[in-house]
Amino acid sequence: PVEQIEADPTKKTLVILGTGWGSVSLLKKLDTENYNVIVISPRNYFLFTPLLPSCTTGTIEHRSIMEPIRSILRQKKARAKFYEAEATSIDPERKVIKVSDISEVRGDTLETEVAYDMLVIGVGAENSTFGIPGVKEHSCFLKEIGDAQQIRKRIMDCVETATFKDQSPEEIERLLHMVVVGGGPTGVEFAAELQDFFEQDIKKLIPELADRFRVTLIEALPNVLPSFSKHLIEYTESTFKEEKIDIKTKTMVKKVTNKTVEAEATRPDGKKETVVMPYGLLVWATGNAVRGIVKDLIAKIPAQKDSRRGLAVNEYLVVQGARDIWAVGDCAVAGYAPTAQVASQEGSFLARLFNNMAKTEQIEDNIRELSSSLNVKPGNSAEVTRQIEEYERQLRRIKDIKPFHYSHQGSLAYIGSEKAVADISWFNGNFASGGGLTFLFWRSAYLSMCFSTRNRLLVINDWLKSKVFGRDVSRE
Ligand code: FAD
Ligand code: NAD
Repeated sequence: PVEQIEADPTKKTLVILGTGWGSVSLLKKLDTENYNVIVISPRNYFLFTPLLPSCTTGTIEHRSIMEPIRSILRQKKARAKFYEAEATSIDPERKVIKVSDISEVRGDTLETEVAYDMLVIGVGAENSTFGIPGVKEHSCFLKEIGDAQQIRKRIMDCVETATFKDQSPEEIERLLHMVVVGGGPTGVEFAAELQDFFEQDIKKLIPELADRFRVTLIEALPNVLPSFSKHLIEYTESTFKEEKIDIKTKTMVKKVTNKTVEAEATRPDGKKETVVMPYGLLVWATGNAVRGIVKDLIAKIPAQKDSRRGLAVNEYLVVQGARDIWAVGDCAVAGYAPTAQVASQEGSFLARLFNNMAKTEQIEDNIRELSSSLNVKPGNSAEVTRQIEEYERQLRRIKDIKPFHYSHQGSLAYIGSEKAVADISWFNGNFASGGGLTFLFWRSAYLSMCFSTRNRLLVINDWLKSKVFGRDVSRE
């Protein structure tokens, strides 16, 4: 029989939803022996999203940026349970979560409930489509490993189909037109990786495509990378121009079909025009939308009635209007951008908070015990009173936990042909740079941020491998 870890009835049950940046950084720093910890996520690994765009072209192999949650939990002092399942609804009154096995292999039990004393929601966000017709059906997204694999296959499918015998020139042009919608960091980094792939590998292997392959980046606002400083935006735009990536700003996609993207472009004279662009590959990167389970919970909590972008949390990341529920990362609205940096700092903050809460409870128990012994055995009272005072001092120190404060370390983005842009805050000042040196900085920063030494070695190996032998263009 499978060994069951029995819940310790003296400890509270802490349920953590998700295995992303927020939840995993909480788990990393949490003293798991203080709680019965249960982790629930449909994904049994942590994904290092900053290097996901590199997986779409095979610069990095996808397994190099995944870390199994089982190995993460194995390193904890006390064992924690993991259920590979999706939480489908949360009942804040009964303090239970409905979970559902959505994987391919199903047992007799598909759905069940998990009770919690404390709940952390770290389910992230889903891809926004703004309800634009055709987007869900025809686009690739770039959020999960499966998305990157799909894009990788599709790029080479377009290339191979374009070289098929008797393909018409118009069809070749369409198939080799790669359209990226959304000029945020995801769209920019993906477009850059894609152009690199073409310049460094595809072009060498299939020279007849040299003048045909085109990457277009469409952005509704007047510029790409709106969160970066002005000169880095200009640097990115001019680098893209050199790389022959066509940026179409002030262009809002309104409709997508299986072969075309229809957009409304604002001309320099302010007039609007409709443009129709045939494409072979369409990658949709227009940011985040709220997940169903979060929307459902918002609807159940009256204090959340104005929440549109996620669960409103207070400065201790407690979900407003709920008891014993905290939220971290992209599903929480704490006044910060939805980034890995924010999510991981929030997760670490909650770990400190929970470790402190457990210590506080332990000390309070000790004080209670000593106080009652004082009544039973008054002879020893001076020593016991001294001990109680010492515990009370500890308690004051521990209880004085400061609210969550985000410390921004800066923003980095890869922009292709071994160049990157960096907006870094150093010693209270800002430092903005772009170019080849920044690229080396980008690589070393991301390497140091990788989850484990295993991930780090695999990523270095992939970088070397693709540099020396070229990216692998076989279509699995
Ligand atoms: P996620 O990391 O998305 O994790 C959510 C977790 O919840 C997943 O494990 C998911 O499987 C699970 N889950 C989903 N639904 C359920 C459910 N119903 N029940 C239980 N579990 C569920 N940020 C940066 O700061 N720097 C970068 O360089 C950077 N690069 C990025 C590149 C790409 C391509 C993308 C897509 C994002 C990037 N980001 C970056 C943003 C960053 O990845 C997110 O802000 C971060 O992942 C948010 O962390 P999270 O824990 O909230 O969610
Ligand atoms: P985003 O929200 O940052 O950018 C989406 C872009 O799509 C916006 O600029 C928006 O104007 C545009 N857009 C929306 N609808 C459109 C339409 N119909 N037509 C054309 N353009 C449209 O999204 P993202 O790039 O996926 O990033 C999500 C989050 O993840 C952000 O917080 C980002 O900072 C973070 N992230 C960071 C990095 C990095 O630091 N290197 C990389 C990827 C993502």
